[in-house]
Amino acid sequence: MNIHEYQAKAVIKEFGAPVSRGKAIFSAAEAEAAARELGGPLWVVKSQIHAGGRGKGKFKEASAGEKGGVRLAKSVEEVKQFAEQMLGATLVTIQTGEAGKQVNRLYIEDGSDIDKEFYLSMLVDRATGRVAFVVSTEGGMDIEQVAHDTPEKIVTFAVDPATGVMPHHGRQLAQALGLVGDLAKQADKLASVLYKAFVEKDMAMLEVNPLIITKDGHLKCLDAKVSFDDNALYRHADVVALRDITEEDSKEIEASKYDLAYIALDGTIGCMVNGAGLAMATLDIIKLYGEEPANFLDVGGGATEEKVTAAFKIITSDPNVKGILVNIFGGIMKCDVIARGVIAAVKAVGLQVPLVVRLEGTNVELGKQILRESGLNVIPADDLDDAAQKIVKAVKG
Ligand code: GDP
Ligand code: MG
Repeated sequence: MNIHEYQAKAVIKEFGAPVSRGKAIFSAAEAEAAARELGGPLWVVKSQIHAGGRGKGKFKEASAGEKGGVRLAKSVEEVKQFAEQMLGATLVTIQTGEAGKQVNRLYIEDGSDIDKEFYLSMLVDRATGRVAFVVSTEGGMDIEQVAHDTPEKIVTFAVDPATGVMPHHGRQLAQALGLVGDLAKQADKLASVLYKAFVEKDMAMLEVNPLIITKDGHLKCLDAKVSFDDNALYRHADVVALRDITEEDSKEIEASKYDLAYIALDGTIGCMVNGAGLAMATLDIIKLYGEEPANFLDVGGGATEEKVTAAFKIITSDPNVKGILVNIFGGIMKCDVIARGVIAAVKAVGLQVPLVVRLEGTNVELGKQILRESGLNVIPADDLDDAAQKIVKAVKG
């Protein structure tokens, strides 16, 4: 689960991380009040969307001006003017795709005087099974570009969960950023504060880009992006409360209501599969035969008919879907349950595209019989290979 920048900053601030003072607002009038309260003389007006690259982004509407999604303002009037321009407008960044994202909230921040910009992120490194820090002196810019052009400028170190963060990690951070004296002490504190926040809140990723040194000699997290491990959300009601569903794919929201593992993709073939491994194999084989999957969908091991119906409805609601492949290996999942779910969904929403069904395993004969007797226009398939070829052929027409 992702949250907004201002929420991420509030979370790390709780643990003692240095961030600017700021206020999240929803209207130009609120922006003006926030600007007065913060006092100036420099403010930053920041679009709050679940995507990075806002500073270099562009609004679709000419009325929003030329300046991008993060703007420095030098007066209360200017803060208000920027807020009027940006609220409701659609911001396109390298991470939003062409459609962009509508800006519905802004963060008004006390502006900082920047001396240097660094990059810092933390993530769970699966190779070592540890939380890793990734830092670079090349902050404020596209880190993927830095990794590509000058990989030696990126420093990575991991923390042993048995010891937790240690003084030598703090020194590593300071050294990677070329900090000495008081700034090195601040880096040491920052490493332990961010590590604590990361672990206690079950984060999956934390990115501070840029981490800055202010002109008056302080380290500060000027931007913050956090995503949480969904599997741990049950123990963080405070985190769940930060969810902004207007930022999420509507199909993914619907899927989460039914506890379905669903991820929207860009292709044309909708997939309904049980088991993550089989789902991945299904995506691969669709690509092998020259088409692209429209989604990843794992209905899980013991799905009910209701869950299968919901899953099928989500797939058919996607206008990009030109064909559907149901690929089920029944173990705990029973093939007749899948067949009934598919039929219930088709009765409710109709079926405008070709449907290939491959069933195998528990109650397979009963499942096939139910589909045959339903009168549905189902293209049956014998195995995964056959199924993929049939759906690709049907879609290509
Ligand atoms: P992003 O573009 O979505 O990554 O948004 P950021 O929060 O990183 O802001 C983009 C850029 O705006 C930063 O890299 C800074 O260069 C600049 N910026 C943000 N806040 C301030 C500030 O308080 N003072 C100054 N001078 N620049 C800022
Ligand atoms: Mg940034």
